[in-house]
This record gives sequence, C-alpha cells and structure tokens, in this order.
Amino acid sequence: MQWLIASLVYVGIAILLVAGVGQGWMDTTALAWWLGFVALVLLAGYIALRSGWTERFRDPSVSVWQLSMGVLAVTWGYLICGPMRTSALFPLMVIFAFGAFALRWRQIAFLTALALACLVAAIVIRSRYPQWLPVQGEITPLRLDINNLLMLAVVLPALAVIAARLSGLRQKLRDQRQALAHALSEVQRLATTDELTGIANRRSMQVLVDRSVALSSRQLTPFSVAILDIDHFKAVNDELGHAAGDEALRAFARLAGATLRNTDTLGRWGGEEFLLVLPGGPGGVGAVLERIREAVRNDCLDARPLTFSAGLAHHRPGESADALLARADLALYEAKGAGRNRDVAAD
Ligand code: GH3
Ligand code: MG
Ligand code: MG
Repeated sequence: MQWLIASLVYVGIAILLVAGVGQGWMDTTALAWWLGFVALVLLAGYIALRSGWTERFRDPSVSVWQLSMGVLAVTWGYLICGPMRTSALFPLMVIFAFGAFALRWRQIAFLTALALACLVAAIVIRSRYPQWLPVQGEITPLRLDINNLLMLAVVLPALAVIAARLSGLRQKLRDQRQALAHALSEVQRLATTDELTGIANRRSMQVLVDRSVALSSRQLTPFSVAILDIDHFKAVNDELGHAAGDEALRAFARLAGATLRNTDTLGRWGGEEFLLVLPGGPGGVGAVLERIREAVRNDCLDARPLTFSAGLAHHRPGESADALLARADLALYEAKGAGRNRDVAAD
C-alpha cells in the first residue's frame, strides 16, 4: 500500500517534470537520471517486498528505507527543478505523514535529520557549485502558480489516502477496545459465577468473606456466615437421577436467593453446599435461614420435600476467615449429627 501510494506520487511528479522540459525549466539529462534513480528505488522496493525478503526485518514494509529514498528523491528534485524547486519539496509532507503512523519517534527524528542535512547540502551545492547543475530556464509567475497547484494536486490526494488509513486504524482500535472490554467483563462474570446455578461461586464468596473479615476487623462492622448443606442429597441423585439433582440445586439457588435482602449474599460453596454471608449481628440470621427453609421445602423437588442443615458463625474481632469458616463447618457437622433440617450456631 505504501509502495503503491509512493509510486502514484512519483508518477504524478514525473509527469510534471516531463512537462517542465517543454516549459524550459527542466533539463532532459538531469530528468533522465532522476527518473532512473526513482525507477530503481521503486523496482528494488517492489522486488524486496513481494519476494518476502523483507519479512526477516522487524518492520517488513521497510518504511525507513522507503521514506529515506523518498527524502533523497525530493532533495535531488530540489536541485534540478530550478525555479520550481520550492514546490519540489511538497512531497516531503507525504513522506512525513507516512512516517507519523508507520515509524517510531526515533525513526522520524532520523528522517527529519536526513531531510534537513540533504537540504543544507543541496543549498550549498546550488550556491557554491552551480556549474554542477544543469542549465535552468526561467518561468513566468503564472506558470509557477499553476505548477505549484498541480504539485499540490499530486500531494494532497496522497495525504487524504493516508488520513483515511489513519482514521480506519483509529476505528479499528475503538472496536478492539470495545471487544476487549466486553471479553474482560465476560471473563470476570465467568470467574465469579457458578456455572450450574448462576449465583456467586466459591472463589467470589471467599473474596467476600476475606473482605468482610478485613472490614470487620478495621471498623468493627459485625457479620455472620452460614454454611447450608442439603440433607440426603445423595439419595436425591440416586433416586431421581443426576439431572434432577442439578435442577434441584438450580431451584435451591433461585428460591433461596429470592428470599434474601440485598445486603445478604448466597453463593455456591461446593457440591450441594451453599454459603450465606450476612452483615450485622447474629440476631437476624436464624430468621433468614427460616425464610429460606420455607421457600425451598416444597418447590425444589416434585417428589419430596427438600431440607437442609446449617452451621452459623458470627465473626469475632481478629478472627481469620479460615477460622470463622471452620467454626461454621463444625456447627454444620453438629446440625447433621443432631438429626438434620436444623441450624446450629457455633459455640
Ligand atoms: P447429608 O449432607 O445429609 O449428610 O447427606 P448428603 O447425601 O447430602 O451428603 P454427601 O456430602 O455425602 O453427598 C453430597 C452429594 O451431592 C453427593 C454428590 O453426588 C451430590 N452432588 C454434589 N454436587 C452435585 C451436583 O453438582 N449435581 C448433582 N446432581 N449432585 C451433586
Ligand atoms: Mg455435603
Ligand atoms: Mg448434604
């Protein structure tokens, strides 16, 4: 693409220069040498790019090389264009616009230094060694204006193409950023949600407990946890099948979740165990569990009522999350031992 745009610009300029021979300000031999150089550069670039030879470089489009050759061609043109030399510099705009999105700043700095050095050299040659330069005729002011206009007519469309590529790039970047944000939120959702029931998973419940512990220790905001374990769930699977068991777990999560205040969080702790985290003192927890018990008893399974046992623990200042959960687990064990379908508070 870069090569193609460069070629079109070169062709446009070449046409103007050939016209310059007719207008008397361009020397045929000088033009032939310049055209030969440009043709060689374009041919070498085309072969190097098309053959895949440039794939070995960090920048396979060898932008620095292409643009440096452009700078050389422009300064050379500056030397041989006589009265047209100022507009011979216009194509530098295309070169640096290319550079702005193809190059790193160091490379642009190099290109800038190269362009300035070449121009200084050209000016020195013009003033010190005019005998090296071809004889250059004069040009009428109107001709000059028209030629400047024609030069811009070659350069500006190339700039428009580069601008179009740039805005396409920006659009692509916007789209990619959007897709990335979407993917990230999807990853976050997947990482924190239980696949079967759609409620918080163990990982995110652990985070919640850790955060509650930190908050409770720092600001003495009390909270409680309760581990709920469905009674005789193995029998549900055995008698009704694993699919019915899965469906019962989904119904449990949905029905239990619906009874909760939005300050309370229910997550799947594993298998047929659920973890409830509630801010506040131990007072209200029994009532919450009773509401859940009511909600899930008759509607999780068609075949039989569903009950659960729960172990409660209220966070003690300074207690770790692990110690808190261990106490709740022990209380759950006691609830199972005491006949199931009941709550036991730790200690
Ligand atoms: P109890 O807790 O009252 O002592 O008896 P239980 O039968 O519920 O206890 P246990 O922990 O021995 O069995 C838990 C069962 O839960 C075993 C396992 O097959 C079942 N289970 C665990 N996860 C899933 C699940 O994702 N889907 C289904 N369908 N069953 C599950
Ligand atoms: Mg269990
Ligand atoms: Mg169980």
